[in-house]
Amino acid sequence: MLRFAKGLAYTFKQMTEKKATHMYPDQEMIWPERFRGIQHFAPEKCIVCNQCARICPTSCINLIGKKSEDPNKKGKVIDTYDINFELCILCDLCTEVCPTEAIVMTTNFELATYSRDELFKNLRWLDDNNTNVRGGEA
Ligand code: SF4
Ligand code: SF4
Repeated sequence: MLRFAKGLAYTFKQMTEKKATHMYPDQEMIWPERFRGIQHFAPEKCIVCNQCARICPTSCINLIGKKSEDPNKKGKVIDTYDINFELCILCDLCTEVCPTEAIVMTTNFELATYSRDELFKNLRWLDDNNTNVRGGEA
């Protein structure tokens, strides 16, 4: 009987405590400042240095550059840029090494899908993923 009363007292105590559960997806998730979410890629900032692809521990970044058609712009510009989110572990290394911040983390995280093919994101998709960019505006 004492145990039952103790259990009941604990239950009532918990009813008045602040809730730890979150009503996702009805309620927006607020992540810590350093949360590592899906990357935003800004093609106009990319200098095709390949550092992001070289440091990636899972080799999930594929990029191809091409010669700039703008006579005022020397060097290469990005042509294709893909990340395979079947493999990406959101480790943040690609964004850390990027010298121009062409690739940056966001706090977006919703990638659930029924098809593995849809986890392969191209330049256009990554460019459009420009909300909730970590550390400010895209
Ligand atoms: S977050 Fe890590 S695993 Fe994902 S693309 Fe960048 S370096 Fe590769
Ligand atoms: S590290 Fe940055 S600038 Fe270099 S290829 Fe990757 S995204 Fe482009």
